[in-house]
Amino acid sequence: MTASGIAEAAVETFMAREQQRFLAQNPQSVALAERARRALFDGVPMHWMSDWSTPCPLFVERARGARFHDVDGHAYVDFCLGDTGSMFGHSPAPIARALAGQGANGLTTMLPGEDAIVAGELLAQRFGLPFWQVATTATDANRFVLRWARAITGRKVVLVFDGCYHGTVDDTLVRCRDGRTVHRSGLLGQAHDLTQFSRAVPFNDLDALERALASEDVAAVLCEPAMTNIGMVLPQPGFHRKLRELTRRHGTLLIIDETHTISTGPGGCTRAWQLEPDFITLGKPIAGGVPCSVYGCSAAMASAMQLARARAREQSEGHGHSGMGTTLSANALAMRCMRANLEEVMTDAAYAHMLPLAARLAEGFRRIIHKHGLAWSVTELGARSEFQFCAQSPRDGAAAEAAFHDSLQMALHLYLINRGILITPFHNMTLCCPETREEDVDRLIGCLDQALAELLAIPG
Ligand code: PMP
Repeated sequence: MTASGIAEAAVETFMAREQQRFLAQNPQSVALAERARRALFDGVPMHWMSDWSTPCPLFVERARGARFHDVDGHAYVDFCLGDTGSMFGHSPAPIARALAGQGANGLTTMLPGEDAIVAGELLAQRFGLPFWQVATTATDANRFVLRWARAITGRKVVLVFDGCYHGTVDDTLVRCRDGRTVHRSGLLGQAHDLTQFSRAVPFNDLDALERALASEDVAAVLCEPAMTNIGMVLPQPGFHRKLRELTRRHGTLLIIDETHTISTGPGGCTRAWQLEPDFITLGKPIAGGVPCSVYGCSAAMASAMQLARARAREQSEGHGHSGMGTTLSANALAMRCMRANLEEVMTDAAYAHMLPLAARLAEGFRRIIHKHGLAWSVTELGARSEFQFCAQSPRDGAAAEAAFHDSLQMALHLYLINRGILITPFHNMTLCCPETREEDVDRLIGCLDQALAELLAIPG
């Protein structure tokens, strides 16, 4: 039996019907996909774009607020929102103004301006960490902070939770299998033995965590406050308190990645749950959808970073290099947009709109799951909610993964796309943005209800 309780044969019939429908109603996307295959590897500018549930990529014409239009003239309500990059809606007006204003005044000079200081001040107020640095992607922010953590502690090992995702950071691309750390499957071109300096343990497993930290060779634990990339997994009560206690006891730094969990509120889970990380990382929506990421640190870490840098300089010959930073990081355009986003978009008022809508969505998911007699669960995290094909919300990454039914997930997503609704691919996650409306939420619930009714009517 499948994890979802739905027979594979029924899913196949359902999927085939939806694929036909997609191809029939999207002739322009089909034609562009054909043309793209001649110029772009895999027919897309970034290979993940061919991993959606559609039989060929869905080509977008324009996006605004909670909506976008495809090249065939269909309108969509977007609950994926660029997988968080557009968590505050597509092209919010203050970001469009910031782009237009900065557009003619220099995009990148490798010199700072006042916008960066204002953004740093606002970040410090929100997250309670005093010092900030800017990178371009959340991947980069995580990579750089891991380097700082190793430089500060003089330790090499990093610890992550099984099923995590922190970007394409090699050190984090490991899993835990039968208590052992192994490479994540599917890695291309990986030359190094990642298990040498990376350790993975199950989320919410404090005994395993304690054992993994006890050898006192772990520079840092890098974690999301709640896991969001293998389906959502919430921390058990007391988990974060103990995590902080154990990391402190064993001289291990704590890095909290708020890239997705910023859905909880303007200060992420760090503020909402009063976490006390040494570092925070955050990317994706921080500049309203313009590439930008940040990392913040405590005053103690800033002093330790100064010391580590001074040590490295003493030991270096000629022109040394920190191994961190990229040329376009903190460019003028990104800084103007991050400032505008923090001042005008990512506000308390925005969250006051998003959070109740997400709660309405979660409630709707529960209602139709119950109505159709399915043993599925719903997990919520601020503006983010997700239905999972398991009776109880999972406790760790392995349990979340065991609840996957990929073909069903793809078929349901395609059904929704064919009716003008987009949710996050690879699992069943939804985000509400400041421009999502109650009727959009109700439409998603109604459409999913209809999908399940049709699917369950197919003889298995
Ligand atoms: N951290 C988390 C928690 C993420 O979910 C992601 C991407 N899904 C990243 C980091 C990496 O973001 P990016 O791909 O923008 O570098």
